[in-house]
Amino acid sequence: MDRCSRDQNCGIIPTWDWVRSPNGRTLDELYNINELLSNFKFADGNRDKWACNLFENGGFTVYSLSKLIDEKVLSPNIGAKCTDQVDFLPKKVGLFVWRAKQNRIPVRVELDKRGIDLDSVRCPVCDNDLETVEHIFIHCQFAKDLWLRVFRWWNLSRLPYENMGELFQGCVDSNHPELRSKLWKAIEWVCGYMIWRNRNLTVFQEKKGNSSMTLNELQIKAFEWISRRSQKLNISWSQWLLNPSLFDVYG
Ligand SMILES: [Zn+2]
Repeated sequence: MDRCSRDQNCGIIPTWDWVRSPNGRTLDELYNINELLSNFKFADGNRDKWACNLFENGGFTVYSLSKLIDEKVLSPNIGAKCTDQVDFLPKKVGLFVWRAKQNRIPVRVELDKRGIDLDSVRCPVCDNDLETVEHIFIHCQFAKDLWLRVFRWWNLSRLPYENMGELFQGCVDSNHPELRSKLWKAIEWVCGYMIWRNRNLTVFQEKKGNSSMTLNELQIKAFEWISRRSQKLNISWSQWLLNPSLFDVYG
């Protein structure tokens, strides 16, 4: 709410400042809160204020709440340690993939199961199916297009992934035994990370990504991360784009 003023009967007349107009279930909630506010009276001296007590400063954004849900509701089990890392990727990527493999990414179906009230449980990227972890990383058209582009970049003739058990394992095409499976695993992880990033841009910033641009971003990001962390870098940017399997990270 941008600001509110009192009417002649000391009730509140809200002035809303929306980034995106409310609809569906959110609209019902808006009607309800309007009704509650219409009977609300300020205390003397106009000292009342609205605050969200989940956060220290009392402020509230959809992003901050989403992050909190992510941390508190979908946090990993105590004792279940994330040991699967690729040493030339940032830890946040490893942690993200580990959580995806454990079905602990805040997709809408999982949030709904945990009692979070949502407008829809459909995929925000394609709207063709429910948003499950498997859908967002494997069956969503955006993910399928991106994986195909990545396979082509690596000159892999493998079939598309069919389930989460096949994903993030670093298994390469048997026709390409020379490919370094650890490097390919890193690419799979970065690709999963970019798919989730695209999903969040769609949800929080209403930006529709495309797989071609996302592949470019993935190539830049992976090159930056891997070249910064690997000991022996012996590939140029142009080689990386043409044949990344030449990237000899182990010397
Ligand atoms: Zn989808």
